[in-house]
Amino acid sequence: MSDCLFCKIVKGDIPSYPIWQDKNFIAILDIFPATIGQTLVISKKHYSSDFSKLPDSVLKDLSIASKKVAQILTSSFTDVSRTCLVLEGFDIDHIHAKLYPMHGLTPLSTYLSSKPSQANSNTLESLQQLLKSSSPCQGRG
Ligand SMILES: [Zn+2]
Repeated sequence: MSDCLFCKIVKGDIPSYPIWQDKNFIAILDIFPATIGQTLVISKKHYSSDFSKLPDSVLKDLSIASKKVAQILTSSFTDVSRTCLVLEGFDIDHIHAKLYPMHGLTPLSTYLSSKPSQANSNTLESLQQLLKSSSPCQGRG
């Protein structure tokens, strides 16, 4: 889909902050994070955001990719004991998982109801370096 934002990110037409990727998925830092290290796991191939219509194999692989990235996020922050996953797709119609590192005991509803502002590029670059260096498998797609 030529007009899809995430397809453009996957192709590299729009710059992003990738922290992990494999053959079928890429994980990038969300530039509108409600929490530090909020990350999107995006399929490299375009699929609609309606997860109920995904091929089973794609949904399974998205879940496994998200699990790997969540493990990187959880292990990279000293105040994070778990990372939550949300599949919503309200805005961009390209399947993606949102990963929320749970810093402290802040309820997830706080993240979901906030209206985050854009993170600055220095912060995102620092986070990208931290998270990429924590990745046990920085597969190249
Ligand atoms: Zn797309």
